[in-house]
Amino acid sequence: MTDLSDTLDQKALDEALAVAHLPALLMSLIHMTGDASLLTQERRPQYVLLADGKLGGYSPEIQADIRARAKAAITAYMNGALLPPQPSPGTVRRMMDWIAGVDIPDQYADFLTDELHLDGVDNNAPDWSAPTLKAAAARLKVVVVGAGMSGILTGIRLKQAGIDFTIVEKNADAGGTWFENIYPGCRVDNPNHMYSYSFEPNDDFPQFYSTQPVLLDYFRRVTDRHALRDHIRFETTVEEAVFDEARGVWRVEVTTRDGGREVLEADALVTAVGQLNRPRYPDIPGLETFDGPSFHSSRWRHDVDLTGKRVAVIGTGASAFQFVPEIAPKVAHLDVYQRTPPWCLPGPTYHDDVPEGKKWLLKHVPFYGKWYRFWLFWMLTDGFIEAVKADEDWNGPPEAVGKVNAEMRALLAEALRAQAPDRQDLQEKIVPTYPLGGKRALVDNGVWVNALKRDNVELNTTGIEKITPSGVVTKDGVEHPADVMIFGTGFHASRFLWPMRIVGRDGVDLQTAWNGDARAYLGMTTPGFPNLFMLYGPNTNIVVNGSIIFFSECSVRYVVGALKLLAETGSQTMEVRKDVHDAFNVRVDAANAMMAWGSPNVTSWYKNATGRVSQNWPFPLVDYWNATVSPNPEDFILKAKVKAPA
Ligand code: NAP
Repeated sequence: MTDLSDTLDQKALDEALAVAHLPALLMSLIHMTGDASLLTQERRPQYVLLADGKLGGYSPEIQADIRARAKAAITAYMNGALLPPQPSPGTVRRMMDWIAGVDIPDQYADFLTDELHLDGVDNNAPDWSAPTLKAAAARLKVVVVGAGMSGILTGIRLKQAGIDFTIVEKNADAGGTWFENIYPGCRVDNPNHMYSYSFEPNDDFPQFYSTQPVLLDYFRRVTDRHALRDHIRFETTVEEAVFDEARGVWRVEVTTRDGGREVLEADALVTAVGQLNRPRYPDIPGLETFDGPSFHSSRWRHDVDLTGKRVAVIGTGASAFQFVPEIAPKVAHLDVYQRTPPWCLPGPTYHDDVPEGKKWLLKHVPFYGKWYRFWLFWMLTDGFIEAVKADEDWNGPPEAVGKVNAEMRALLAEALRAQAPDRQDLQEKIVPTYPLGGKRALVDNGVWVNALKRDNVELNTTGIEKITPSGVVTKDGVEHPADVMIFGTGFHASRFLWPMRIVGRDGVDLQTAWNGDARAYLGMTTPGFPNLFMLYGPNTNIVVNGSIIFFSECSVRYVVGALKLLAETGSQTMEVRKDVHDAFNVRVDAANAMMAWGSPNVTSWYKNATGRVSQNWPFPLVDYWNATVSPNPEDFILKAKVKAPA
């Protein structure tokens, strides 16, 4: 590949155009030429389910035509031609329909226009420039718990609003899950050009699904670019937060780097601790008796050399799916203990580099990157949700929840079987019997089944009886020796905010109030806990539709809006009304019951000990976007200031 750098070389341009996402290129062509008549029926993309949409299903003639027109337009633009006036909102709306390949329902228009933000304006950046707000911001103090993806975002927004804040982070650096999960093969399983802040695109992601070091670097760089480090207390852990009713403030007790205790006071407490960072070890008899090294996937011990060892891996979820193919070639023997197989979605580019030409297009061609992200966003958000929804009158087998779900299941089951054509034994083990969408489906480029097919790997589905000092005994009484044991057994996801102790109004402990069944209004607020805002809280996880960064952007916009509401009304506290909270939860529960993950045929980390789906958002993303534009004052009990004026 020729080095394109910032110059324009015709051969290099041809190479770049050869790898272009043509529907996105067509959109940028309209920006560069001002010619909306390019939106002809023959240039309307036709996508094939689960296939790479890069070529838009275009005929070779149309592909060549788009490339030739783009080449001329890019050359003119790079030689200094000015862009014509930007397409009208009506044209942009048609362009959305075009690149999506379907007529996007009108209720999505505002939401998608915001996501696309062609004007380059970061619409969610708060504007607190009005003198009264400026003064109010200066009086506010917020404590944020966690400097992962959501905490960094909160810091950025609070800083933009001029609000004083401290982020308390237990780790030695920012990055959250990307700081902690350093297991071999760890990478994002959402396309990176979408798994990034909407206002911090990165044209240089080296791969379509970047690895953990790349993501950690991205979040660190964003932290630095927004100069957040001075606001972050690293290696400091929040032990408890108690709401001081008399003064209307949160008292946050932390353990500091040197082991001391300190109390921080804040008008509002924002938790940004994620759902997946407290390792869950399996409850298997004899676990503690194992003689060799053993560790959890999120506490990977790189000091334990696996070369030539007999290794036991327990669990086949998203983490094991990534590290098993990495360690399999190294070890002498690998036993993978599977309780339930994962569903997989074909993703041929999962480990692929982004071609240099594509990076060049992202960086230089006007609006190409925006439309590419928009395409990813549309295809991967609500486009898939119908396939995991239950039909009310479904009377087919319990392995599916509806007609579309059953059709998709058949397709994906076949895709899995086709990966092990001569291994009937493996085929029977790798195709799930629960409905597609019951658990997170994993992006599959074949390395998982290839690893399981290796001579030194055995996928064991017998069930574990016990662990002994020297290995694992399965339910058939067979003893499987192991030198090292790795737990890919997930996290205490439904124990939200645990192990922090959060005490709200009337001395009520949050965990006691929840009693193992965490609930919140829009995932963020809960009755009895004034000015407590949770990010990635109950019922805000997404299974098939989109990136959690999108959710965080919506939530943080809402939280900053809540602080604005306090400032504008001169209130000290806001607390969600119980009836509002309860009615919301009734709707959420009813909707979750109609999703694949709510099926009684599924057990997963999405359900808590009561069997309720406490993690997932069951509605389209657009509903969350709409619900979080700004808080509705009527949903809250607002209380006037109780603090003596400064
Ligand atoms: P997980 O999905 O909860 O998987 C845990 C695995 O351990 C499951 O296969 C589970 O089986 C098994 N397991 C648990 N207890 C067991 C026991 N006592 N005996 C045998 N097997 C047992 O955990 P994870 O893989 O760490 O992933 C958690 C979540 O993190 C994912 O769903 C995803 O949201 C996120 N994640 C994302 C990425 C990414 O973006 N690249 C990577 C990793 C993780 P059952 O299914 O039968 O319970």
